[in-house]
Amino acid sequence: MTRDYRKAALGLIKGRVLFDAPMKQFTSIKVGGPVDSLLFPKDLVELKKVISYATAKNIPFLILGKGTNLVVRDRGVRGWAICLTQWMKKVRADGEVVEAEAGLSIQRLVQFSIQKGLTGLEPFFGIPGTVGGGLMMNAGAWGAELKDIVLSVTLMREDGEVVERPRQKLKFSYRQLAIPASWVIVKGRFQLSKGRKEEILERVKSYSEMRRRTQPLDYPSAGSIFKNPPEGPAGKWIEEVGLKGFRIGQAMISDRHANFIINLGKATAQEVIDLMEFVERKVYEEKGISLEREVRVVGEA
Ligand SMILES: Cc1cc2nc3c(=O)[nH]c(=O)nc-3n(C[C@H](O)[C@H](O)[C@H](O)COP(=O)(O)OP(=O)(O)OC[C@H]3O[C@@H](n4cnc5c(N)ncnc54)[C@H](O)[C@@H]3O)c2cc1C
Repeated sequence: MTRDYRKAALGLIKGRVLFDAPMKQFTSIKVGGPVDSLLFPKDLVELKKVISYATAKNIPFLILGKGTNLVVRDRGVRGWAICLTQWMKKVRADGEVVEAEAGLSIQRLVQFSIQKGLTGLEPFFGIPGTVGGGLMMNAGAWGAELKDIVLSVTLMREDGEVVERPRQKLKFSYRQLAIPASWVIVKGRFQLSKGRKEEILERVKSYSEMRRRTQPLDYPSAGSIFKNPPEGPAGKWIEEVGLKGFRIGQAMISDRHANFIINLGKATAQEVIDLMEFVERKVYEEKGISLEREVRVVGEA
């Protein structure tokens, strides 16, 4: 079966197909074993072929953005990973509305809006993911979330049909957009407003400085590991139970920001997962608080 769907991937699209690609090269925390096939569809037509084929043949697939919110297990991913970041990254503005394909980086989206003198995206500068991953995770920073400015999201269903859903019909919540597991975000439309370029740039600069001051950006990580519980920031509780700087192997709780696990160089996914579980237990035992994961752990257990 594995052999069959490897070959099928190759014949299906003109975009690149890699076999046994180490997922540590495609995730920001740099852990994770090989994926059977990694496909880079060139456009919507190729994406449609890939998704409908996978659905018809029961091939499991993972949609991959920039892998900045993912911990891939050491055994890797069975089936296909489908990545939109090489090709599907067009962006355009129509007045104050910006439309961006899912593979575009959030960084580039913010830069584009600055060039157009449009305001609304400044808080998102520095989030290292894609438009698709950002919408899926309802990414947010400094009190803003993507759901606040999204007008509509275009989705591909598992049968390859493309549907556009307006904001009112979408179920966004804290770091989540609820869509069926096999649907793919292909595009988002955002409502921005006219602003003064110098002021927009000033705001971007200050958000970017705050990020540099508070986050361990010199090491590989997957951003915030846990969602902030109603009782307060996850990092505060992790720090209070004395875990800043705590390590399992090469995975360490950052001493700059306790809600970040950093990879000191050669961490395995298992070390990262063991550390997450250790934090969950300790914070629960000592504070009675259940931490919920923000990062998604994927791959063969
Ligand atoms: C240093 C650092 C700082 C960060 N700061 C922030 C922050 O301030 N705020 C914040 O919210 N996040 C932050 N993050 C986390 C992360 O960048 C965001 O969640 C980002 O939106 C994830 O995008 P991605 O493209 O990397 O998604 P991935 O990690 O590739 O995927 C995340 C999930 O979305 C799914 N997915 C991705 N693309 C699609 C698609 N097109 N269609 C359907 N599903 C899809 C994947 O299958 C996966 O389940 C940070 C991460 C790092 C490493």
